[in-house]
Amino acid sequence: MKFNILEECAGAKRIAITGHQKPDGDCVGSCLSVWYYLKQNLKDADVRVFLEQPDPVFAELAGYSEIVTDFPDEAPFDVLFIMDCNLERTGLAVKYAEGAGKIINIDHHVTNANGCGNLNYVDPKIGAACELVYDLIEPDKFDAELAKSIYVGIIHDTGVFQYQNTTPDTMRKAAHLMSFGFEFDRIILETFYQKTYVQAQIMGRALMESIRFMNGRCIVSVIDRKTMEFYNVSKTDFEGIVNQLRNIKGVSCAIFMYETATLEYKVSLRTDNSVDAAKVAAYFGGGGHARAAGCTMKGTFHDCVNNLSDEIAKQLE
Ligand code: 5GP
Ligand code: MN
Repeated sequence: MKFNILEECAGAKRIAITGHQKPDGDCVGSCLSVWYYLKQNLKDADVRVFLEQPDPVFAELAGYSEIVTDFPDEAPFDVLFIMDCNLERTGLAVKYAEGAGKIINIDHHVTNANGCGNLNYVDPKIGAACELVYDLIEPDKFDAELAKSIYVGIIHDTGVFQYQNTTPDTMRKAAHLMSFGFEFDRIILETFYQKTYVQAQIMGRALMESIRFMNGRCIVSVIDRKTMEFYNVSKTDFEGIVNQLRNIKGVSCAIFMYETATLEYKVSLRTDNSVDAAKVAAYFGGGGHARAAGCTMKGTFHDCVNNLSDEIAKQLE
């Protein structure tokens, strides 16, 4: 249900904002747009964003340099915003929920459809958490900085207006945001399409070593820790690989995995209409959306793929 953010924060002296681990464009954009909006409109409040270090491509968004990445112990906050996820996915920020005066959850994950806050604006039909932020901001409160952060979130979660989650409403919101005159073309290039050289190399490696199964309807690629060390890449450098796998002709379900610890993998899933990715991920304790989801799995690479394959097969038959 919609509510007024400023009214809900009236009188609050200390406000915290957080999102999910490995923050993506929608997570960073939604956290920073709420931060900016509160800073602009609640001058006396101490407003802070707590996130794992986001990709430096987002450095030009207002508030980026003030993001707290080390999750220090804090006295309870009057209001805690949980953006683009449920409480469990906030990682070390989960402690800020304890004693928080009020938790406000703004999310669009089908696996968090009921919300995890005292106040929830959660709608799994909406393409980006940033679209929900847009809905909650009064029309006269937008400016170029705010518009830019919200726009970044929308382009990232809709794949620059390409995925099925893009609606006429998405385009109307984007059109309004665009009217504030930031350099949308450069921002799309620099935050979404551009890769560093090692990111391009690791993507090439992942594509080259990918394996197809189920008659080419599924494809999987894995990067182990040794390879990560060789290319000197971290988990933030894998953005886009699974989408590239999904773009391969005939593929209904693309799987990208990287090793997080001995016998442990972070799994990303991308699917077409014939497979509900959120359902597969949720079966293994993860979550996400119908066409894009993820989970963490334990076991050897082959065990993980076999287990995933069994779940996917249930839907493909
Ligand atoms: P990605 O594959 O880009 O990491 O994530 C795809 C989608 O699935 C995102 O919306 C992300 O928030 C969600 N997701 C990824 N991993 C997990 C997970 O372990 N648990 C849950 N609940 N959602 C996940
Ligand atoms: Mn999102």
